Amino acid sequence: MKIISSELQTIAGNKSQYPVDNLFEIAFAGKSNVGKSSLINTLVNRNNLARTSGKPGKTQTINFYNINGDFRFVDLPGYGYAKVSKTQREKWAQMIEEYLKFRQNLIEIMLVVDIRHEPGDHDALMYQWIKSYGFNGIVIATKADKISKGQWEKQKTIIQRKLQIENRNFIIPFSAEKRMNLDQVWKAIEEIIMV
Ligand code: GDP
Repeated sequence: MKIISSELQTIAGNKSQYPVDNLFEIAFAGKSNVGKSSLINTLVNRNNLARTSGKPGKTQTINFYNINGDFRFVDLPGYGYAKVSKTQREKWAQMIEEYLKFRQNLIEIMLVVDIRHEPGDHDALMYQWIKSYGFNGIVIATKADKISKGQWEKQKTIIQRKLQIENRNFIIPFSAEKRMNLDQVWKAIEEIIMV
């Protein structure tokens, strides 16, 4: 994919603020600090399009990035901060659900996990949500530069088991730092958009 333009189009706190048009959207979900912003920035070849890592209590928003005027990447608020209040967690869940359930533009969700660790219960829940709304759920196992390539398959198995993923081809090891498998992630995105 040749990136001609990428820009932050809208920051939404609720669904009345979503862009109104027919562009396809691919959303990115994941735990805070997992490397979601770095993945988005690497995909579009920018250093700082997506916000980088949040601090606890940062505003929870859904960010819409317009790519080439053709489609959008949607950055969902990260989850899993131990320090956030119950009210914030509930707001988060409501926001995500409102987006996943009703957004007609949404065609796929990428779940970002850390390749080094077994996914957590929040990741498992997120993956279940993704599947229950009828998406494939592509799992990007990021920070793959932090382990040797020889360990990738073993870690993929751990991820596959925890998330109960049927097809392990939907788990893509990736590194933003070393740009590993960038082509493969783009290929998956292109396949989704072309359908
Ligand atoms: P987010 O909260 O999920 O958006 O996470 P960020 O993209 O801000 O990344 C969190 C931290 O992980 C930052 O310090 C990044 O530099 C680091 N990071 C993200 N992706 C990678 C990666 O592929 N490899 C390595 N080594 N570090 C990464």
